[in-house]
Parts: sequence; structure tokens; C-alpha cells
Amino acid sequence: MPFSFSHDVVVLGSGAAGLTAALAASLDGADVGIYEKGTVLGGSSAISGGVPWIPLNHHQDEAGITDSREEALEYLASLSLGRMDPAMAEAFVDSGRDTIQWLEEVTDLRFTLLPRYPDYHPENPGGKPDGGRSLDPGLFSYRSLGDWADRVARSRRSAHLKITDTTLGGGTGYLPEGELERRMDEDLRGCGNALVGPILKALLDRGVEPVLEARALDLIVKDGRVAGVQVEIDGKPTDVEARRGVILATGGFEWNADLVAEFLRGPMTAPTSVPTNTGDGLLMAMRAGARLANMGQAWWVPAVKIPGDIAFGEQRSNLVNRERTLPGSILVNGAGRRFTDEATNYNALGGAFHQIDPVAFGYANLPAWLVFDQAHADRYGSFGTPAGQPVADWIPRAETVSGLAEAVGIDPAGLAETVDRWNAFVDAEEDRDFHRGDSAYDRWSGDGEFRFTKASTLGRIDTGPYYAVPIESGTLGTSGGPRTDVDGRVLDTRLQPIPGLFACGNVAAAPTAMAYGGAGGTLGPILVFGRRTGRAAARPLARFSH
Ligand SMILES: Cc1cc2nc3c(=O)[nH]c(=O)nc-3n(C[C@H](O)[C@H](O)[C@H](O)COP(=O)(O)OP(=O)(O)OC[C@H]3O[C@@H](n4cnc5c(N)ncnc54)[C@H](O)[C@@H]3O)c2cc1C
Repeated sequence: MPFSFSHDVVVLGSGAAGLTAALAASLDGADVGIYEKGTVLGGSSAISGGVPWIPLNHHQDEAGITDSREEALEYLASLSLGRMDPAMAEAFVDSGRDTIQWLEEVTDLRFTLLPRYPDYHPENPGGKPDGGRSLDPGLFSYRSLGDWADRVARSRRSAHLKITDTTLGGGTGYLPEGELERRMDEDLRGCGNALVGPILKALLDRGVEPVLEARALDLIVKDGRVAGVQVEIDGKPTDVEARRGVILATGGFEWNADLVAEFLRGPMTAPTSVPTNTGDGLLMAMRAGARLANMGQAWWVPAVKIPGDIAFGEQRSNLVNRERTLPGSILVNGAGRRFTDEATNYNALGGAFHQIDPVAFGYANLPAWLVFDQAHADRYGSFGTPAGQPVADWIPRAETVSGLAEAVGIDPAGLAETVDRWNAFVDAEEDRDFHRGDSAYDRWSGDGEFRFTKASTLGRIDTGPYYAVPIESGTLGTSGGPRTDVDGRVLDTRLQPIPGLFACGNVAAAPTAMAYGGAGGTLGPILVFGRRTGRAAARPLARFSH
């Protein structure tokens, strides 16, 4: 059957990976088609914090921050437990600076450093306790996108916030009087929308318009090479030719319950990404004979489900960052025991949910609850309710700690003992069990009034009523998939490139494996390998002997 559409390069998915790859390929002279399954584009990238983590970026120079290739590689290696492919890590570190400079040249993106935002494991060798590797995309005016402004995925809560306004970036989550109205009037958007918008604009300016509601179904293989894709358009399977290559950029498989059960190393019940990420690209790569890697891994987060909170037609899972790092709260398991430094970074903390109790042979820390008291709720608010307002009715509560434990099914004696022990640690200003507050990261992420001190995260739990919120094992997106070379070529089981097939972003095996260096630890590599992949796919076939 003849192809209905034909391009040099076909990109599947329109998150940061797909858009960056598409722009790189287009600038290198390829005719590019982008096909996106969702009704809106941008994927999880558009609803993310929009922060990339890039060692040695040029904004460090202006701020007088020192960094080096050796430090960055040593740091990443310290977080990968031997699982990272050094060639991929080197390609990331070596191309990061260029990628950011390139994005600032060819799009309206203008990054700044997230001020003093520490790496996620700042005390590891090569880690940066005073920041310098996490970048803020600032604000971008969606007025410049015309009709396309309404076709980008966005989070109703944070679309107009800059990352530094959000609790993740050290802000309160609220804007000063008048500022929100100003940003809404000018349609100034921050975070993931500020990252995706300028790349989309650069593509539109070049005449590359993504096709929405176009779900890729399967690869078309001809004469041993991926020659196109079958895409469902207007409900009909449509054959799209790719003269040079197909780039899988379809995100992770976190919304596919079967793949989650088959591959992830432990329970994951709360994906926070867009629900269209159902592993379609992974399955296509598997059918094409790809070698897989990093399949048990994801970018983990502790998450909460607030009843009635819906996003993209599904129950929303929210990252739990603020409530667990602020003073006056602890995380406990069913035995009423703490099991981690609550203020550590979300990705590392997610690992604690997968700890197996070898005797009972069950997950030791699931289910889990965040326990806090009235003083915490009064000062900071809780789970979407601002400070000073009553705690939401859906949150279980009791006048005493053991009463709370009984109400939700935690061991009462265990919880009472844990709270007493915690309060003694707070009084001594030392968490002898899990060292909460010892890391520069912990001291940054809690109460901003006490930033850089332990008081930013250590606080007694002693003022009833007491509250317990179920916390689930969630993810920003999975990070395993087809193995690629440093230019995004998908490798087969003999580690040879599958002709015409490329992958980048969360659909592929993460270039840093399980290492999550700092804020932006997923989007940093995604931008770098998105660009590398787009450039490689744009090269005429004759220049490769696959
Ligand atoms: C709330 C939140 C905050 C985050 N903040 C940060 C941050 O600040 N920094 C950071 O580094 N990371 C962050 N992350 C993680 C980051 O957003 C993801 O790792 C990243 O966006 C993945 O990019 P991607 O392009 O691979 O996938 P996505 O951006 O998810 O895009 C994949 C796209 O592919 C489409 N697709 C799926 N199947 C098909 C198909 N069959 N055909 C066509 N299209 C298809 C999807 O609809 C989607 O639009 C955050 C994530 C969340 C959820």
C-alpha cells in the first residue's frame, strides 16, 4: 500500500524529547513530521517543573561556579550503583553545555540558574551543595503561540508559576497580589510550559506542525529497515513513511498496568505523568527486536491522591515534597516506624517503598502514612489547603497519637514510641536514626524561613489533633526501555543498530540509568539526547552502514 504521508524523519510523541529531536532534525535540513497521541501536546514535559540538570552549563560561568567533567562523572557514577553505561554518561556531560547554548540560540528559551539549589546528593563526591547545575526556564508568553497556546498540556494549578514560585523550587506556591492576574493577562507561563513553548514555537516558525490525536500503532519494516509507522489518524490506521528514520519519543510505560507489573522492581500505584504514556513505543521497539535496559527503574516519587482531584480525565497523583520536608511531620509504616530521612530527595525516597522484609516477606514500608500535627497544619497548610484553614475532611485525624494509629490501622504502641523518639531527636537537634537535616539538600528544601539550618526540617509533633495521610509509591515516569547508542540509535539484542529506528526520552533506557543528579535530572539528559538523536536521524541513510 502506498504511504499516505511521507517525511525524512517521523517523531512519535511531543514531549521535551520529541520536540527537541524534531527541532534538531529540522534545523539539519530534514523534513520532519511529529505525531502525538494526546488531544494536547507537550506530554509530561509540559506539566513538569521544566528544570533541566546540566553540569558545566554556561550560566555557571556568569555566577562564578566551578564545575568539571571529572566531578560531574564521579558524581553520576556514585549514584548509579555500577548500572550506568560510562559512554552515555560521558556523552551527556560533554554535550550538556552545547545543548543549552544551542537551545538559547535557536529558540526563545533563556535559562537562569536555580539560585543555590543543591544537587540531590550534595555530599557525594562531585556533588554541588551550593547548586549551579539546575536551570530555570523562566516565563514564556504563550501569546506568541497563537491558536497553539490552547493545544499544550498544562496543569491548572501551576501553569503561571515559575519553578521558584512553587514549593519544589523553594517558593510558597502562591503569587503576590496582582502578579497572577498580570501573568494570566499576558498568558505568561512557567515551569514545563516555559520549556516546551519556545521549542514548539521554533518548530512552528519553521513550518513543522505536530499532528494531534495521532496514535502510533506500529512500525513499518521494509527490507530490514524501519521505513515508516502506522498511525491512527481520525480513527483510521494510516501509513506514514520515514525516509531516514523514526524517532520513538513516546514517554514511559507508567500508565500501562501490565508493563508496570511485568517490569518495575516494586509496587508503583501513582503515576504523576500524562495518562497517554502507556508504553506504546516500548512495545514497538520490542516487536522490532530491541535490547532492553534499566527496566526495573523509574523516576520515583512519594505521591498522594486527593479524592476528587482529576487531571486529564484520571485521578491525579500529586508529588509529596513540601509536607514531608517541613517541620512537624514524619513518614511511618504499618508498624508505626519511620523508615527514611523524610526530607531526602523524592527519587531516592521512592526506593524505600521497595524494601522487602525478608522474614514476613512483604514490602516493609507499604502502606505508608505521613503523620503531622495541628501546629504543622496551622503554620504550613496541608495537601492543597492553605495555612490557617481547617484541614480537609478527607484526612483522617484523632485527638491522640495512638487514637490516630487505631483509626488508620497503624500499630498504636509503635507509633506512640516513634513520635516520642522523634520529639527527643528534635530537642537534641539530631536525627540519630535517619540523619534528617544533616544534608545541605534537606536544609534547603523545608521551611524557607530557616533555610540552610536544621530547623528548616526538624520540628516536634506534639499538638493535637494528629493527622495521617496515605502516601503511595509513585513515579514521574519510567526510565527503562530500548538501549540506544550515544546518538539515539536503537540497538538489537546483539547490540547492533536497528536500521532506521531511534529513541530518546523516557521511552528509552535512561542514559544515566538510575542516577538522578539533581533538580532536572531527567529533563537534562532528555534535552541532550533529544538533540543528538534528532541530528543523527536527519543524516541521509547513505552515510550509515547499519
Ligand atoms: C509533575 C511533574 C514534574 C516534573 N518536574 C520535572 C523537572 O522539573 N525536571 C525534570 O528533569 N523532570 C521532571 N519531571 C519528569 C519529566 O517531566 C519527564 O521525565 C519528561 O517530561 C519525559 O519527557 P518525554 O519527552 O520522554 O515524555 P513526555 O513528555 O511524557 O512525552 C511523551 C509524549 O508521547 C506521547 N505518546 C505516547 N504514546 C504515543 C503514541 N503511541 N503515538 C504518539 N504519541 C504518543 C504522549 O501522549 C506524550 O505527549 C516531572 C514530571 C512530572 C509529572
